[in-house]
Amino acid sequence: MLFGMDGVEVTEAEREADGRLTVWARITVPPVCPGCSSVSEKVHQYVTTRPRDVRACGQDIGLFLVKRRMECAGEDCATVTFTEPAPQVPPRCTITRRLLDHAAAEVTDRGITPAEAARDAGISWPSVHGAFRQAADQVLDESPAPVAHLGIDEHRRGRPRWRQDSDTGEYVQLADRWHVCFYDLGGNQGLLGQVEGRTADDTAYWLAGATPAWRDAVQVVAIDMCTIFASAVRRMLPHAAIAVDLFHVVQLAVKTVGDVRRRATREIYGRRGKAGDPEYGIKHLLNRNLENLSPEQFEKIIEALDASAEGQQAAIAWIAKEKLRDALNLRARVTGSTPCERQVRDRLFTFYDWCAQHEDIPELATLANTIARWENEIVTAVLTGVTNATAESLNRLAKLEARHAYGFRNPANQRRRVRIACTRGTRRPSAPTTSTTRRVNKQKRHHG
Ligand SMILES: [Zn+2]
Repeated sequence: MLFGMDGVEVTEAEREADGRLTVWARITVPPVCPGCSSVSEKVHQYVTTRPRDVRACGQDIGLFLVKRRMECAGEDCATVTFTEPAPQVPPRCTITRRLLDHAAAEVTDRGITPAEAARDAGISWPSVHGAFRQAADQVLDESPAPVAHLGIDEHRRGRPRWRQDSDTGEYVQLADRWHVCFYDLGGNQGLLGQVEGRTADDTAYWLAGATPAWRDAVQVVAIDMCTIFASAVRRMLPHAAIAVDLFHVVQLAVKTVGDVRRRATREIYGRRGKAGDPEYGIKHLLNRNLENLSPEQFEKIIEALDASAEGQQAAIAWIAKEKLRDALNLRARVTGSTPCERQVRDRLFTFYDWCAQHEDIPELATLANTIARWENEIVTAVLTGVTNATAESLNRLAKLEARHAYGFRNPANQRRRVRIACTRGTRRPSAPTTSTTRRVNKQKRHHG
């Protein structure tokens, strides 16, 4: 009973001199012929097998399983002899089913690599990977439930490969492979799917594979400011609104402030900034949000930037960033109330107006142009509050998985492992092998 293997009965168990536990067992399932389904009584031969089994109480078990080879009693049956069937140890298997299930669960639920699970279970990598693949494909083959808010992001597969051209000496890129990932932002389905490549066609290809009903259910798609994804979404999900991730919008504005400050420094000193320059001393303060600055820090910024005409340019860029943030801060998460579209567009207009007043700063014109090109998508993001934050955090998991594996050679395996990792939180962990034993015991106690 303690051994807990279905259809197997322990006949003897003893501790060896070296402390190892040896278990002798035999099969109790009626020997049914696979050819004619009749139960045979005639034993042809006894065979002792040594299948590899799970550890018990942290120690390896030496399992000797005696199987009988039966002669078929059926009159017109083509089968002459057959081995007794055991649900946990099918014919020609040297690893018990429960050990494989345990190793597969270690990979799917606990997130260790098949190599580590194989080392731990004392079996080979192909065995563990095969079991993992079987378990994972069962979960992943289910088509995703409808998603209202869809996120799209990409991550690099491996690193780009270069080759030096023998004639010119220049480096030519050989391979730069990417995976585009689709995420459920509103629900808890995690990573919905991946596709290799990063073109609009690749992205549209995955969306085309979904059912029309699933595509119709998508209301908002969150993307980075990336024209490739935008065009794929417009092609395949024409009714869905696109929201750009506001984090990347602010990031772009912060970068612009830095660009203006660096150019201004070069114009004043004819070199790049260094410690001691007043503008250099405030470079981190310029990255901060206005509401997070103390009055002294604000004073310091104004003082440093007021000193020269070039410094004033950096100040103007910084104010432009804050004006852009004013528009983005209308979102319900910040204000607590749903904004109206007019308000958002008005504040964006104030930002454009500020940039237009200072057309002598080329970086600001570029920023305003980019924002204008994505205006509708920014307004959608502010109004709906949909962000790609979930996608970014799951993307981090995807990269971590590749690092655990020391890189993947097989893209299909990578997609399988990444999807299992990114849906782990929503799956119920599969029951550990010991619980079956407990349930059987309880039933037996009730009956007896
Ligand atoms: Zn038969």
